[in-house]
Amino acid sequence: MSTSGTDDSARPIGLLGGTFDPVHYGHLRLAEEAREALALARVLFIPAGAPAHRPAPAASAAHRRAMLAAALADNPHFALETFELERDAPSYTVETLSALRAREGAARPLVWIIGSDAFAALHTWHRWRELFALAHFAIAQRPGQTFDAPQDAALAAEYRARRVNEPQRLRHAAAGYLIDFAMTPLAISATAIRANLARGASNRYLLPAAVANYIDHHQPYPVELTRP
Ligand code: ATP
Repeated sequence: MSTSGTDDSARPIGLLGGTFDPVHYGHLRLAEEAREALALARVLFIPAGAPAHRPAPAASAAHRRAMLAAALADNPHFALETFELERDAPSYTVETLSALRAREGAARPLVWIIGSDAFAALHTWHRWRELFALAHFAIAQRPGQTFDAPQDAALAAEYRARRVNEPQRLRHAAAGYLIDFAMTPLAISATAIRANLARGASNRYLLPAAVANYIDHHQPYPVELTRP
């Protein structure tokens, strides 16, 4: 597991769940900046199969997986974790984290990386309070979101009780802390990218060229289009 001769095997593992419909530079910078800020050993990208909290993705699981694989290929610190795609049932994060916890062992710090928009709705997730026994949460401010503390009272109470400021704290416990970290604001969303595709507008510089090429060649989105 160690790649550098340092104590890589003790460093936290970052986890980034999402629909990745398609993956874009907002996701990749989120992962990269979390990795640096929090000294993560690596970041696993976990595409959702049938997300529990939102409508079905526009692109098939096979296409979303292939686009992610293309986006991650040149980064040795990033990896694709596909077990949510392999399930038929909705993907609940609590189950995903339980499986990762069993695989990585009780002591390994796990850090669920999340945008502030998604964190603000955490209290709506299945068995959400159990998540804090399974992982830390690292919250990145997302452009257009103002986030001091969550609106929901129960989530706000957890946020206040669990929040830490020093990234080193994440190394000394396997789970249970919340930390905010600053990220270069990138107002990129998969929704906007799909809207560009639908009207034939360019997505250049919003996502990796390898992903744009995949979209051109494999047409994972139903609307036929030609980029200007
Ligand atoms: P959609 O527009 O289809 O809702 P999305 O672009 O928000 O998709 P998701 O797959 O839902 O992408 O996001 C996965 C995770 O990445 C979430 O935690 C989300 O907050 C975060 N995220 C997505 N885009 C950005 C961005 N531009 N900056 C910071 N975080 C982001």
